Amino acid sequence: MSFIKDIINFILPPRCYMCEKVLDEDKGICDECISKIEFLNKAVCYKCGAPLFEQESNENKKILCGNCLRHKNKIIFRMIRSAFLYDEFSKKLILDFKFYDKTDLAPFLAKMLYVAGKDVFAEGIDIIIPVPLHYTRLLKRRYNQSSLLAKELGNITNIEVDYKNLIKRKKTKAQVECNVNERLINLKDAFSLKYPEKLKGKKVLLIDDVLTTGSTLNECAKAIKSAKPKSIYSLTLSRSIS
Ligand SMILES: [Zn+2]
Ligand SMILES: [Zn+2]
Repeated sequence: MSFIKDIINFILPPRCYMCEKVLDEDKGICDECISKIEFLNKAVCYKCGAPLFEQESNENKKILCGNCLRHKNKIIFRMIRSAFLYDEFSKKLILDFKFYDKTDLAPFLAKMLYVAGKDVFAEGIDIIIPVPLHYTRLLKRRYNQSSLLAKELGNITNIEVDYKNLIKRKKTKAQVECNVNERLINLKDAFSLKYPEKLKGKKVLLIDDVLTTGSTLNECAKAIKSAKPKSIYSLTLSRSIS
């Protein structure tokens, strides 16, 4: 096998996804491009994972952001983490992965998720669930980027991935085309569970590619909450900060 791989690498050497520089080993992205990604690995809110800007850098402290302190009981998630900031640089990575068939990025991106999710996995997750697409969109796009990430995470962690339970039953407008209020109306009752009994008493982890306003994740979490899980978590690849 390695002989064949050597030949393939000789003819078609692996290249960096971002800058297309030839790589010595197929690791997805070159070191220089990796250094341009704004990883959210510094001080983040212990609950929602939002970056904290003005605080002492004691990483052992479980500090909450202002929003989580104010609305502690209203927040449906026990914990949310994201791997990196959604900015002009990382946008290309996300869009290529999501829309342009760069599905072989999945193992590489899932490793980033796994590292970012250290606190989440320490809680003992029982089930991983990807944010679903409506079936008509899945037919058009042929794959669900969140399912690919969930599958790879399942391989890394040996945690069960449940692809069939949470479904998107309502076809909605793309969230980017809506303002904040429209987003909420657009997504209302868009998700439901097929086998709620499976999630009862479980620690459920939702996977998505981008966290923008959080309304998609929230609507998924509402559907999951109806099954009375023990707690709900989320991991997203990137996160935009307004
Ligand atoms: Zn590069
Ligand atoms: Zn917070």
